[in-house]
Amino acid sequence: MKNILFYIGFMAIGTIGGCVWHKSLHSEKQASSEPTPNPKELKDHLRYLESTLDTMHDVKPNPIPGEWLYHNKEMQQYPHQYLAAHPSILEEKRNKIYIQPIGGFTKAQWKILGVTADYLEVFYEVDVTVMDSISVERVPKKNRRLNDKGETQLQTTYIMNKILTPDLPKDARGYMGFTAYDLYPDENYNFVFGQGKLGGNVGIYSLNRFGYPDWDSTEYHMCLKRTLKVASHELGHIFGFRHCVDYQCVMNGSNTMDETDRKPVYLCPLDMLKVTQGMGIDEVYRFNKLESFWRAKGYENEANFYRDCAHLLETNTNRREGGIHNN
Ligand SMILES: [Zn+2]
Ligand SMILES: [Zn+2]
Repeated sequence: MKNILFYIGFMAIGTIGGCVWHKSLHSEKQASSEPTPNPKELKDHLRYLESTLDTMHDVKPNPIPGEWLYHNKEMQQYPHQYLAAHPSILEEKRNKIYIQPIGGFTKAQWKILGVTADYLEVFYEVDVTVMDSISVERVPKKNRRLNDKGETQLQTTYIMNKILTPDLPKDARGYMGFTAYDLYPDENYNFVFGQGKLGGNVGIYSLNRFGYPDWDSTEYHMCLKRTLKVASHELGHIFGFRHCVDYQCVMNGSNTMDETDRKPVYLCPLDMLKVTQGMGIDEVYRFNKLESFWRAKGYENEANFYRDCAHLLETNTNRREGGIHNN
C-alpha cells in the first residue's frame, strides 16, 4: 500500500477551497503482528451497534457541488477491513501521542491545546502529552512567507520533514504539531489548515483560521469545537482511518470550514468500532467518558448525545458484554 498525504481545508490559488489527498511513494509501515479479529464477529457486532444506535446517527445525504464528496469519490473503509491491517490502533513500542506546540500562542489558544490533549485521551483511549513549545525560528526564512492577510505563514513540508520527523519521540505513534501561524505546503496553495500522512506518525495543524478564542466565550467555544473536530479527525488519519462516506461522522472529509462546522463531533458506529475494538474498550465506557468531557466543557448537546447512546446500549436486552474479542 502507498502512504497518502492529506491536506485539510486548503485554499489553492485560483480555486475556492478544498481538501485533497495526495498519493506519495513512501512505503506504509508494517502491519502489526497481533491476531486478526474474526470478521464474522466484527460484522455481527457492527450490525448490533448500527441497529441499537439507529436513531442517533444519520446517513450521509447525496453531496452537493462544493462539498467534499461531490468532488472526491471515496469508498467506505469498514471495520473488518481496517482491523485486518491494524488489529490495534497503537503499536507495541509506539503507543503514545505527542502534541508539539510551535511558536507562540495566546492564553486561550494554550488552554485549547490542553483541552485538546484531554479530549484525544478520552476519544481514543490513548496517552497524550503536550510538549514544551519550540521556537518558530527553527523554520528558516526560505520556508516562510506572508499570507493574504500579511501574516507570516510556515511551510508544512519543512515542519514535518525537518523538525517533527527527526525529533519523533521513540514511543510516539503520533506526533502532531500545532501552531497559531498560518500554514502553506507549496506555491500552489494560498493556505492549508494542516497536513499529514495517512498511517504515518507526524502531522502539522494550525489554529490560525479557527476564530479568535480570546474575544469572548462564544468565539472560544467555536474555536475549541473546531480544534477538537480537526484533531480527532487528523489523529484518525494517523491511525489509518480513511474518510467516512456512509454516515454523518467526524471522519467525513470537508472542503471548507463551513462543511467542518456542519459535521458532528462524534464517530459513526463503523468508525467507533475501529476505536473500541482497536483499543479493546467497551462502548458504554467510552460513551460515559465522552459525556463527562462535553458536560464539563459546557456543551450540553454533545454530552446528551453520548448519554443517550450509552442508555440505548445499556437498555438493549441483547447487550453484548465487554464488546468482542480477537480469536
Ligand atoms: Zn481528512
Ligand atoms: Zn464514520
